[in-house]
This record gives sequence, structure tokens and C-alpha cells, in this order.
Amino acid sequence: MATAHATRVQQRAGDPVSEAPPVPREKLEAIFRDIQSDLRFDHELHGCLNCGICTATCPAAHYYDFSPREIVQLLWTENLEGIYDAMQEKIWACAQCYTCAARCPFGNSPGGLVMLMRETAIKHRMESAKNVLRPFSRVMLKLVSTGNQLAPDMITKDHFPDWGPRISKVEAPLKLLRQAIPVPTLNTTATAWEVNLRTSIELYTIWEETGVLEQLEGIDPNLFDVISDFMDEKREEWEDFLAEQQARGGDDE
Ligand code: SF4
Ligand code: SF4
Repeated sequence: MATAHATRVQQRAGDPVSEAPPVPREKLEAIFRDIQSDLRFDHELHGCLNCGICTATCPAAHYYDFSPREIVQLLWTENLEGIYDAMQEKIWACAQCYTCAARCPFGNSPGGLVMLMRETAIKHRMESAKNVLRPFSRVMLKLVSTGNQLAPDMITKDHFPDWGPRISKVEAPLKLLRQAIPVPTLNTTATAWEVNLRTSIELYTIWEETGVLEQLEGIDPNLFDVISDFMDEKREEWEDFLAEQQARGGDDE
């Protein structure tokens, strides 16, 4: 639970462990099994000298109560309680820059291991994952509805207060400026570029087949419902388009 002295990560991710009942051993084992059984696990963890080079070069360790060395040690020693605890807060501090992977003398990728732990946190519907990912629901909706994560018209003063005085730049006549770009698919402010219907349908299939939508359903069922309805509509549109094309082909014969 966030307190007056909570770190910035705690304020966003909360600290559900502190007041939660003990986690059953079976659950801890299931979580570790999911991390360890991922195909990437053996490529990203080969042992650990406990040298701390990864932590010394990690930007997240500089600002947060987070250490890639600690994460690797927890996994290497199969410290199930420690792994679970780290998944409540610490793993969300990593910036995924992979400086650690470039430096580790053992060829480990602490950042890659953090990614596996994050995916497992989502799979197990942990509160920390829900809290951290909640602000991204708007981006997800935009991605599904337009094929782009971010559009020029999303960059507003309200959403980027940390830009400070530089925010005046986004108050420029965006529509006019975008019209000046000599690429027609970029002459819009509602999307970063236009994604055609066929590409969108293909993206839906990829998200379904790779389990992205299933993960979303576990994290945010309401957003999942909205997105599913939207995808159904788009797929109907695509079917109608194909039927129309077929009919035209028939007429031409
Ligand atoms: S993960 Fe690599 S760099 Fe980090 S402590 Fe272990 S051996 Fe050293
Ligand atoms: S990938 Fe994560 S753990 Fe590795 S150096 Fe970057 S922030 Fe640190």
C-alpha cells in the first residue's frame, strides 16, 4: 500500500505484499515454473558471479530501489518468495535499455529476465501489473482502433505536463503542418500514419495468436470488451469489402 514515504514506483504500482496473507507455496512454484519454462530463460541466464557490473551500469538502479544483480540472484538461486516480492514492485522499475546485457561477463540479460517476470505477472493477473499498465489503456485503445500507439492529437498540455515550457511547440497548427508532409498517409493528426484495413485485421490475428488479447482480458476486462467489439466491427467491414470485390470480379467475367 502506498504511504507518505512511498517511492515513485510504490505510488504507481502499490505494495500489495506488505498487508497480504502469505502466498501458498504452490502459487510461488507455478509462477517460477512459468518464468523458467519460457524459451528465452536459458538464453538469458547462464549463472551469476554476483559482481554487480549490471547494477553499476543500470540507470533504473540509480533512481529506484532496484538492482538487476538482485533479480538475477533471485532467479539463479530459485528464491521463490524473493521472486514473488520483486514482482510486486521492483521489476516495474526497469527501463528495458539492456545496458546490463551488454555488460554482463556471464552473458546474462537481466533486462530480458525482467521482461519474463513482467509477462508472468500479467499472466497471473497480479495487482502490480494492473496498476502499472492501467495508464496505457488509452494507448492500447488507440493502437487497436488506428494501428498506431500515439497520434499527434494525443500530444496535449494535459497529457504531457512534464514537458514544461517546451509544450508551446505542440500548440503549433498541427493540422496545417501535417498537410505539408509530402506523404499522403501522414496528412492526418488522428493517427501517426494511416494503417489500412487489411493490415489491421492481420494485426488482430497476431495479437490473438500470441496471447496478447488473452493477457489484456486478464488485466483489464472492460478494455478487452471494448476492443473485442471494435475488432468484430472491423472484421465485418473487411468481410464486406472482400464480398464486394468478389461480386465485382463476378460481374466482370
Ligand atoms: S548478472 Fe552478470 S553482471 Fe550482474 S551480477 Fe551477475 S554476473 Fe555480474
Ligand atoms: S535493461 Fe533494465 S535492468 Fe538492464 S540496465 Fe536497463 S534498466 Fe537496468
